Amino acid sequence: MKTTAAIVESSDQPLRIEEVDLAEPGRGEVRVRVEACGICRSDLHAIDGAESVVFPAVLGHEAAGVVDALGEGVESVAEGDRVVLSWTPACGRCPPCLRGDVQLCQALRMSTAGSGPLSWQGQPLDRFMALGAFSERVVVPASMAIAVTGDVPPTEACLIGCAVMTGFGAATKTAAVRWGESVAVIGCGGVGLAAIQGARIAGAGRIIAIDPIAQRRQAALDSGATEARDPEGAVAGVIEATGGGADVAIECVGRSETMMDAFNMIRPGGRAVVVGLASFADVLQIPPIMLLMEKVLTGSIYGSANPATDFPKLVALRDQGRLNLDLLVGKVRPFAEINEGIAEMREGSLTRVVLTF
Ligand SMILES: [Zn+2]
Ligand SMILES: [Zn+2]
Repeated sequence: MKTTAAIVESSDQPLRIEEVDLAEPGRGEVRVRVEACGICRSDLHAIDGAESVVFPAVLGHEAAGVVDALGEGVESVAEGDRVVLSWTPACGRCPPCLRGDVQLCQALRMSTAGSGPLSWQGQPLDRFMALGAFSERVVVPASMAIAVTGDVPPTEACLIGCAVMTGFGAATKTAAVRWGESVAVIGCGGVGLAAIQGARIAGAGRIIAIDPIAQRRQAALDSGATEARDPEGAVAGVIEATGGGADVAIECVGRSETMMDAFNMIRPGGRAVVVGLASFADVLQIPPIMLLMEKVLTGSIYGSANPATDFPKLVALRDQGRLNLDLLVGKVRPFAEINEGIAEMREGSLTRVVLTF
């Protein structure tokens, strides 16, 4: 069938919205009519050539929609189901999946260059994170389309597919924040605000948000941070405020300097969790002697998610009024205005621009 997608051809040209060809869903695949897709910072990195994407490509990996066709053998969803797209294939067969670490599934691909259901003028289109959801319709493995119930609007549901799961899961699953603990969150974009909400819902006693932009610090306070501060002097400030270091620090920026800060601001025996996407060239150096303080430094991908079970839980928390997704939606724009939305995301003060279809 024909569908409409936003194509990125190079780092220095605007995306073009074009009619493209989409193959029918094959065995184990579903076709989803996309209703909303967030513009994530990883999409901006991909446009800039800092991700494993081959142009021409279709980006977009934070989407919600409705199942409108099933391939052979699909039983997990039905036509008409509302779904949130996940970017782990959760193949169910590789060693990480068999262990239960589906966020580490070995079938996870940032790029599907040279294969996949999408083509344009006879040439295959790459799909970022094997989704390519800046498109009116996508064909994906059924394991990447997670059915959700409740009345969550698509403009909020889509955020569960990347920012919310990543941040919320970093706090609640990777760091496993316990009630009463102190949690510092460095970087208060969409992921950081979701981490703050995860810490709040886990029962953190104190949540210290750190960000240079005043608007984001306010959003952090609205998300449940108990205090918000500028990065200047933040390490000493957190150590002083917590009487020796935070129990947990979550880094949502993606720079070695802020990762060091996270490690330095936790108490002996504390946990520093790196969520931010660093460049391949960046190197993190820590004095190994500090590891003798039993500090833990760990990464977190996709908030250690199992999307099939975690996405419905996040929707339930939202429906109960405990998880505020609305706060993360900085602006909603029609799909046709994708280039304007990308420019606004680059400007930096909006948490998320969400596109509707
Ligand atoms: Zn993302
Ligand atoms: Zn797997």
